[in-house]
Amino acid sequence: MDLRKLIRDIPDYPKQGILFFDITPLLGDPEGFRRAVDALAERFAASGATKIVAAEARGFIFGAALAYKMGIGFVPVRKPGKLPYKTRSVSYDLEYGSDTLCMHEDALLRGEKVLVIDDLLATGGTLSGVVKLVEEFGAAIVGIGVVIELTFLNGKQQFSTYDCESILQIA
Ligand code: AMP
Repeated sequence: MDLRKLIRDIPDYPKQGILFFDITPLLGDPEGFRRAVDALAERFAASGATKIVAAEARGFIFGAALAYKMGIGFVPVRKPGKLPYKTRSVSYDLEYGSDTLCMHEDALLRGEKVLVIDDLLATGGTLSGVVKLVEEFGAAIVGIGVVIELTFLNGKQQFSTYDCESILQIA
């Protein structure tokens, strides 16, 4: 099954000059969605992870399904003001400006094995923010997994010291 056929290319979204890769056809296809989640589960079957950490909103979709499949916990990473309990946060640089991500302060234990999941790796800015936050807890990142990698942006380079895996590469 060619998962690429289930990704819809939308030119100039959300702004002029950006080619947006829309995963909703993949999500709507039971076989495609299952294959994407199963492929991630296979890559990290031996990781020993006890938690999946993923950022809103699209990271939740794959992260939660994978946590269920792997029988491990799920930790949501959210934008400021969205989590009800005490939080820890990290600010990270984007192409233009910066952004902040938050996690509950008791979400991870020191030394806990964590798998960081997202739908798509573009520049890697978001994932590096999540990685930074997870490491501030003293947790160990045993893998970084994405469904789609935009290889032409070389975002993966910055994760060379991690086991960073993608299911579908778009060049
Ligand atoms: P980045 O921080 O540049 O790696 O961007 C990662 C996040 O932004 C991912 O979680 C994606 O959901 C979203 N994203 C960035 N670029 C695209 C794109 N061209 N098509 C679809 N989603 C994108």
